[in-house]
Amino acid sequence: MKIIITGATGLLGRAVYKQLTENTGYTVIGLGFSRVNAPLLKLNLRDKDDLTAFMKKENPDYIIHCAAERRPDVSEADPAASEQLNVEVTENIAKLSKQIGSFMLYISTDYVFDGKNPPYSIDSEPNPLNFYGKTKLAGEEAVKKNLDNYTILRVPILYGTELYPLESSISSIAAGLAKNRSGKFDDTATRYPTHTEDVAFVLDKLISSRQEGGDIQGIFHFSSNEALTKYKIAGIMSSFFNINLNDIFPDRTVSVSTVRPENSHLDTGRLNLLMKVPKRPFHKGITPVLERLFGKSGSDS
Ligand code: NAP
Repeated sequence: MKIIITGATGLLGRAVYKQLTENTGYTVIGLGFSRVNAPLLKLNLRDKDDLTAFMKKENPDYIIHCAAERRPDVSEADPAASEQLNVEVTENIAKLSKQIGSFMLYISTDYVFDGKNPPYSIDSEPNPLNFYGKTKLAGEEAVKKNLDNYTILRVPILYGTELYPLESSISSIAAGLAKNRSGKFDDTATRYPTHTEDVAFVLDKLISSRQEGGDIQGIFHFSSNEALTKYKIAGIMSSFFNINLNDIFPDRTVSVSTVRPENSHLDTGRLNLLMKVPKRPFHKGITPVLERLFGKSGSDS
């Protein structure tokens, strides 16, 4: 069985590629664009002819579509580029999946919701607040319109496989702590930081479930259940850096350039029925990340 992963050089795609190559017997092809090292392959997904030729040549059983512009501020600043990658490319992959008979797993986001009435079930009405969320929802619609064989997996804020401190919003908090040894952090928006390796495990299990005759068609939600603000996240990280909690301050008047949902907690009910879902506690999941980025006990910072 052959699986193609787009965005395999990204935060999530790296974990998905590792999970599937190390734990399954599938043939796995990982695609990237600007950061590709062998055995990953370079393919500019924005080039429709190259994309079409590649997918027709490889004829995969599954396509896991992780590639996206996922930074809301960047999406806001360059909407056309974001729309092309998040919507047009997704639509092209969906159409190709239909033509070659592949099953498509599209990674989406809790930002399709407005965050005013959590938790959100798979049937809740999306209402994205920012342009990034709108493009991801349009990507979902393109998948639904063009395909019968698909899974849309919505996930919240991710962490886990960062290669440098500013790669994710979660590791960026750590970078601020390492540099300033104190700080004021947003205490208004609730987040559910979810480990990329847990998402990768879920994707692996979704595919094996389908291989065994299970129904994975449609929308699934996956999320940790730990409700944390950036202030609380900084508090958890403070012990790693030996920073006094009294030096971490809550900010309840944050104004951000790009509006984000206040609490878009995802209800994982459908996934729970299908598998035992991993829920890595944040303090456990984040420690190896901090050790890798900042040295043991923050000593290299
Ligand atoms: P990421 O780290 O920014 O990775 C983006 C990936 O897209 C990279 O592998 C990049 O390749 C690839 N890419 C960009 N432009 C491309 C192009 N023209 N052709 C081919 N590949 C291209 O993103 P992520 O955090 O892993 O996000 C994965 C998915 O999860 C996305 O769909 C995102 O919307 C969703 N998601 C992410 C979060 C989060 O907190 N990160 C939260 C919710 C949902 P190169 O780097 O090699 O150029």
